[in-house]
Amino acid sequence: MSVTVFENISSLKEWISEFRASGRTVGFVPTMGALHAGHISLIKRAKESCDVVVVSVFVNPTQFNNPDDLKKYPRTIEQDIELLSASPCDALFCPTEKEVYPEPQKLHWDFGLLSHSLEAHYRPGHFDGVLTVVKRLFEIVLPDMAFFGEKDYQQLSLIRKMTAHERFEIEVVGCPIVRESDGLAMSSRNRRLNDLQRRQSTAISQTLFQMKKDRNKMTPQELRSWGWKALENAEGITPEYLEIVDGPSFRPIDQWSRDLEPVVLVAVYMGEVRLIDTMAL
Ligand code: AMP
Repeated sequence: MSVTVFENISSLKEWISEFRASGRTVGFVPTMGALHAGHISLIKRAKESCDVVVVSVFVNPTQFNNPDDLKKYPRTIEQDIELLSASPCDALFCPTEKEVYPEPQKLHWDFGLLSHSLEAHYRPGHFDGVLTVVKRLFEIVLPDMAFFGEKDYQQLSLIRKMTAHERFEIEVVGCPIVRESDGLAMSSRNRRLNDLQRRQSTAISQTLFQMKKDRNKMTPQELRSWGWKALENAEGITPEYLEIVDGPSFRPIDQWSRDLEPVVLVAVYMGEVRLIDTMAL
């Protein structure tokens, strides 16, 4: 299979409009590139529901609150195109910064706890950058459906909110986390780990799997401190946060209850590489 590559908005729009005119549906998978099997799973999921799949690769500067993280973010566009050619992706949109933002732009939304806690708290301005670029990309592609990973759990919830708030008629679909065989959640940032860090990083998902297993043996507070200590004691890992929240409300859970949907969310540093993971309990 081959993938058609677009760098400018007008030619992408023209290409999409031809498919739309013949009644075909468009699925969209936004990414920042350095593609891996997690991204490919989103593309496959998109192709199951849509006739045409558009993938974007754009390292969005406005969502990086740390300039060094932006500078070191892996960029592998040639490998990405190869991977996409072997996937059911039909078109790749890889615009320049000027194409996406002719004028500097960073919008602001406030969706309560979702906009303030955990990732939002530790990465100020990050989600405004994410939502601004997703809104911009939605306006360009105007997909019927858009596909996002549950690994970025808070991001997915915020994108659902923004989509409804801005009245986009786009179905936002959450897709399960793809993991390496030792459990590490796949991430473009994993490429920045050295061999030792890569081996040590398995403690992140192991902690989450153990928490899931032990859920019924402990109170939420006990389980939270067990998980925190397990990460703190793991070689090479500095935990930033670990929280158990109710998925729909995003409120931290103090007591188990049947009405709640407990999810554990975690962010850690391995050296200067920041990794996140999440698991439904
Ligand atoms: P990124 O390129 O990291 O911005 O990710 C682009 C999309 O891929 C987002 O919707 C992510 O949640 C999703 N994604 C990243 N890693 C994974 C993974 N391991 N499994 C499933 N989806 C993922």
